[in-house]
Amino acid sequence: MKFFSNKKLLIAISIIPQLILFNSGILSPKFIESSYSTGFYPYISRLLRWLFHWSDKSIGEKIALYVPFIIAGLCIYKFVKQLKSKDRNVKQYLLKLLLNLGVGLSTLYMIFMLVWGFNYHRVSIDQQFGLRKAPRPTSELIVLCDTLIERCNTLREQVNPYEPGYEFDYGQVATEILALYQQFDSTRYSNLGSPKCVKEVHHPYVMATLSIGGIYFPFTGEANVNQAAPTHELPFTMAHEIGHQAGYAREDEANFIAFLVCRNSQNPLIQYSAYRAAVKYSMGMLIEYDEDAFHYLREKYSSKLNDDVYRSLGYWQQYDGPMADYSSDINDLYLKVNSQDEGVDSYGLIVDLLLAERERPITNTSPK
Ligand SMILES: [Zn+2]
Repeated sequence: MKFFSNKKLLIAISIIPQLILFNSGILSPKFIESSYSTGFYPYISRLLRWLFHWSDKSIGEKIALYVPFIIAGLCIYKFVKQLKSKDRNVKQYLLKLLLNLGVGLSTLYMIFMLVWGFNYHRVSIDQQFGLRKAPRPTSELIVLCDTLIERCNTLREQVNPYEPGYEFDYGQVATEILALYQQFDSTRYSNLGSPKCVKEVHHPYVMATLSIGGIYFPFTGEANVNQAAPTHELPFTMAHEIGHQAGYAREDEANFIAFLVCRNSQNPLIQYSAYRAAVKYSMGMLIEYDEDAFHYLREKYSSKLNDDVYRSLGYWQQYDGPMADYSSDINDLYLKVNSQDEGVDSYGLIVDLLLAERERPITNTSPK
């Protein structure tokens, strides 16, 4: 084998030591926090947002949707060409293809880690805020749910995004949420950037079919949101994706920081959106531990909150199907590869953080 091929082989198989090195805990969270998450990453993030802010809509979405098809098309084209050639060697071609795909995957993973992925391994948000995550009695969860439902009912009376004439101003809400991040911690979030990096997508239908409400695309630094989802979901989804942009990679942590930030808003829609999401996750956990308490509290939903629950169900159920299942499986695998052992269930772990925060309330302050 020539040197060139050996070099390619080395790059391809380097994905194995990369996976071991990045996910084994050899690099301590404290080291990653100081050198990457609060050191190198803010510069990378700023550079990416500067490079990709020129388009109003998601560039990452186009890359994610089109590039795999272009690569598959090229592979098929070259394969057919090989079959037609007189001195064809299909076995050699397939080996070469496999090697090239391995090189691509390995390189992509390395870039992913450099531009964002290390944030999965930083100091956890509960440690940053000095919270105590611990097993707690169900009674605490019941109190949490009750408090959140009450707040939700009140907030929903102050805003009606479904009344005739109501228009959701995407850019304005993105601006407000970014300002909330900066109010929350002016040091850490001072350079989060412009609302131009919180983007609507080109194909909300495709996103919905894949059961995606929002997605952070790390290679372009864009926080992408499916703008066709029910209006009451949008502010929280935007805040969640901005949380990823700010360097909170884990799903429960992006949910938690989004909640902390949005609950300080003067805009009742932003607040409501966050509390409604918190109710969804908390009640989702309660039904697993105490069904009677769940049904008792479920009765406390105001009719407007109830309508929103069915709006969300109605919207997402119309896209339910095998693609949504595949997408969820891929997300589950992706999260597990990045050391999130609970996979897609990790979104719901925000409840552990909400319970811990009841013990030690967080006000607008820099993390400890
Ligand atoms: Zn997320």
